[in-house]
Amino acid sequence: MRFDILTIFPDFFDSPMQEGILRRAQAAGQIRVAVHNIRDYALDRHKMTDDRPFGGGEGMVMKPEPLLACLDDLEQREQGGPVVLLSPRGRQFSQKVAEELAAESRLVLVCGRYEGVDQRFTDRYVDQEISIGDYVLSGGELAAMVMVDAITRLLPEVLGCSDSALHDTFSRGLLKHSQYTRPREFQGMGVPGPLLSGDHAAIRGYRFLESVELTLEKRPDLLAGVRFSPEEVALLRKSGLWVKVKEVQEG
Ligand code: SAM
Repeated sequence: MRFDILTIFPDFFDSPMQEGILRRAQAAGQIRVAVHNIRDYALDRHKMTDDRPFGGGEGMVMKPEPLLACLDDLEQREQGGPVVLLSPRGRQFSQKVAEELAAESRLVLVCGRYEGVDQRFTDRYVDQEISIGDYVLSGGELAAMVMVDAITRLLPEVLGCSDSALHDTFSRGLLKHSQYTRPREFQGMGVPGPLLSGDHAAIRGYRFLESVELTLEKRPDLLAGVRFSPEEVALLRKSGLWVKVKEVQEG
């Protein structure tokens, strides 16, 4: 998958793209990330990419022409994929949106700064606006990084264990079970017995029930759309959690 990122702060991406999964995915050719400096496409000799808002008010607005020149330039080299503007007014990013976008072969991510982007650029050239949450960042770069990271994890072959993203929190509407590692005892606290039993069915059952318990406690809203297999329903009934799950799902 290819990511084209349009920004006035290209150096912002240097370090995060060179760590962990993102570095490995690039080295293996599973993703390609091209960062484009919008300032290189500014039309005047002062390399202005922003100007005062019509109608007055605080701050500056990103000019449409440098954004368009940058987009045009890369469209001539690469085709396809939606143009996404990072914006607090956009559709909320989620695991579901990440899964949807992971099916694309290419994404163009436009990072706003200042008071945002001239609306005429958005109206004509942006396919969707995406927000990473109900708060205002000073720029779209962090939001673009969040998207690249979350989408890359979902690409086949990117994660070492091919199905580990399938068991991530949110992948089926349940929070992920807790994890423990060595030492076996830490400050007087042990590890739940089933995890030490070596019995894989018991471990799976324990983790599943803990997932449901955690979701009931912390994010009951997620349970609304979760469907359980007959084996899972049997486990939930035996543990006494089924009644609570039904209450949440039907209430
Ligand atoms: N004045 C704008 C408003 O109130 O909607 C906020 C502009 S913000 C300071 C500058 C840029 O940061 C935005 O154009 C957008 O690209 C990015 N940004 C800010 N918050 C964001 C969020 N929650 N999700 C995605 N991008 C965001």
